[in-house]
Amino acid sequence: MDISIARDAITHYMEKDGPEVIEFDFFGGEPLLYFDFIRDTVDWFHTRTWNKKHVFFICTNGTILTDDIRDWLIKNRDCVQVGLSLDGCKTAHDLCRSNSYDRVMENIPFFRKYWHHQPVKMTVCADTIPYLAESVIQMEEMGIFFTANLAFENHWGDEKKKAKLLETYEDQLSLLVDYYEERPHLYPVSPMLTAVPEYLGVPSYGEIDPKKIKRFCGAGHEMVTIDVDGSRYPCHRFIPWVTQRELPNENANCQEAWKPDKCNECKLVHSCPTCAGYNWEINGDTGHRTTFHCDSFKLEVKASCLLEWKRLRRKLKANPLKPSNDLKQYKIRLKSISEFLRDPILSNYYGE
Ligand code: SF4
Repeated sequence: MDISIARDAITHYMEKDGPEVIEFDFFGGEPLLYFDFIRDTVDWFHTRTWNKKHVFFICTNGTILTDDIRDWLIKNRDCVQVGLSLDGCKTAHDLCRSNSYDRVMENIPFFRKYWHHQPVKMTVCADTIPYLAESVIQMEEMGIFFTANLAFENHWGDEKKKAKLLETYEDQLSLLVDYYEERPHLYPVSPMLTAVPEYLGVPSYGEIDPKKIKRFCGAGHEMVTIDVDGSRYPCHRFIPWVTQRELPNENANCQEAWKPDKCNECKLVHSCPTCAGYNWEINGDTGHRTTFHCDSFKLEVKASCLLEWKRLRRKLKANPLKPSNDLKQYKIRLKSISEFLRDPILSNYYGE
């Protein structure tokens, strides 16, 4: 991208359009391969006075940090946030990221020192599902602040392979439920094991009516992607060379209802992740959800609820003789989670 395109876009959103606080993400591939561009853009930005608040964000694979890059990032850390991708234990990470685990680990102290508040992002795919528990436990034992999610693209293979992988996923989640039950001081890995009813916005468990929520991300609304030639897209996943489709004629991500019907009527729809760009690429409709992750998401909900139920039961057992309002609340919550765990939606997985 020519730097004038970046400057024009920044000037436009800082002076003419958009919200009062703007996050500018440098997005790759690996953005730090283009470090000179990032440095020149941010340094130019700081030669001017702007009325809006701002932050720059770089998501990196952590493999090419030179001394120059480190020094500049440290100097600018008040306005440049850096997020690291690390896909779990060595076996899992090396499987997905070209044997780069050892190089990334060398840089972990740097990220922990300067961006300890920024969660490391762990993405799990079919190949790394068997290493999930080992990966999560290792991250916890290293004291890394992280999130973990399963890719929702179709990485499952045929029906037989998918059924086997789902079984493995359930086993791995079960190991993590045991791990976190034994360690109540730890917040369970999010969002994988935090999908409890309140977070899900399930009617009668939370206050949000899922039927009123018709989009899941900011694509086409709070978010815009500027391509290398200056073209604007609702997000990077709408770029025609990514989707092999033209852009939607109507405003993207403005659906009034979800498709397919099973999603529109699903009580998990508020928290079940969906990607407007991927929906457009696969189904030609931002509101027509892909459902490759339907079964795995239900397994996460089930494991999350089970973990919460086990933790609550422990608390109750630890305080049997001390009736209090807290205890009463625990009991109510335990009962509601027990009911939710028996909900047919959580047994409707492994193929439909
Ligand atoms: S859990 Fe399944 S049915 Fe429910 S919203 Fe997600 S993909 Fe659709």
